[in-house]
Amino acid sequence: MKNKKNKKYCLGIESTAHTFGAAVVEFTEQPDEESGGKYRGIGNARILSNVRDAFSTEEGGMIPAEVADHHVRVCKDVVKRAVEEAGIKPEDINLISYSRAPGIGHTLRIGAMAARSLAIALKPEMGLVGVNHCIAHLEIGRLLTDSTDPVLLYASGANTQIIAYEGGKYRIFGETLDIGIGNFLDQFARELGLGFPGGPKVAELAEKGRRYIELPYVVKGMDLSFGGILTYVKKIINSDDFRSGRITKEDLCFSVQETVFAMLTEVSERAMAHCGKKELLLGGGVACNTRLQEMCKIMAEERNAKAFFVPNQFNIDNAAMIAWQGVLQREQTISPEEADIDPYERTDDVKVFWRI
Ligand code: AMP
Ligand code: MG
Repeated sequence: MKNKKNKKYCLGIESTAHTFGAAVVEFTEQPDEESGGKYRGIGNARILSNVRDAFSTEEGGMIPAEVADHHVRVCKDVVKRAVEEAGIKPEDINLISYSRAPGIGHTLRIGAMAARSLAIALKPEMGLVGVNHCIAHLEIGRLLTDSTDPVLLYASGANTQIIAYEGGKYRIFGETLDIGIGNFLDQFARELGLGFPGGPKVAELAEKGRRYIELPYVVKGMDLSFGGILTYVKKIINSDDFRSGRITKEDLCFSVQETVFAMLTEVSERAMAHCGKKELLLGGGVACNTRLQEMCKIMAEERNAKAFFVPNQFNIDNAAMIAWQGVLQREQTISPEEADIDPYERTDDVKVFWRI
């Protein structure tokens, strides 16, 4: 049996947007040659818990101050449950990581505050690490799948980026020029009178859609734009054709999905061709969508590559990926006073030193 004393525990805290999450990852320090080949000096990583509480509404979207209030209300209970479900005691925690970037300032601050307070309360020598949320999406995919060097299609609420490792950094090869794909789906759903989050509701209706309605398709070089498509579908929703039922909401949801997911797949394919990479990894809440997964799988297979998906609880915003990213960056600990936030940090601002 392994000596329990070698085991270390990182508590991760996520609060970039609608979700407040806490999770515990167990790991051991190991020489590189015994650590499985993907990371420097870490072995036996296990996710022991992954607890989340997401802000949601029946109608309307999210207002930053209201979401921050939600996080304040739930944070104590979420952290408590994450520690209990992990089967450890608070004093067993060696490291605390939190999402310091990018995200909504109001909500990032609650997570940083929670991490700081816990570090101070638990032990004076507690290590604290602030990590980049987008990079954490990529690294949890590398941990949970067989992919080693993927192109990441990061399709979430506020973000839509195609990311790959080149020259010591995670570079952004393409991205949205306006709103994120998830926000686009949420706003579209709101126009249809569906609540938040809208993506899953659009997906459900799309399954019953049959007729493709021509929509704008907006790919500019490696970048994407959803704002014009949103204006166009809003016009359809307010048209006589829609009101009279000649265009059904099922057909509209189907057409929207087919169009915007084809755009994502096209740009991902171009990034794979450009970088010569044979793996595509999906991340972010919209990556839960089975039609998007299907399109990416077909594209990857057609070019003798492989598409990787993680279970939904690790696609949506979650703290397990923040805990794991904290483990990877454990040599970059800071003091509670230094635990700041950066709503605008980009993935290519971060030096990637933990890959072998
Ligand atoms: P994230 O910001 O990564 O947590 O992702 C949240 C976004 O994912 C929201 O905009 C949701 O509407 C969207 N989403 C969640 N599940 C699905 C799904 N099955 N299909 C499409 N979008 C989804
Ligand atoms: Mg996310």
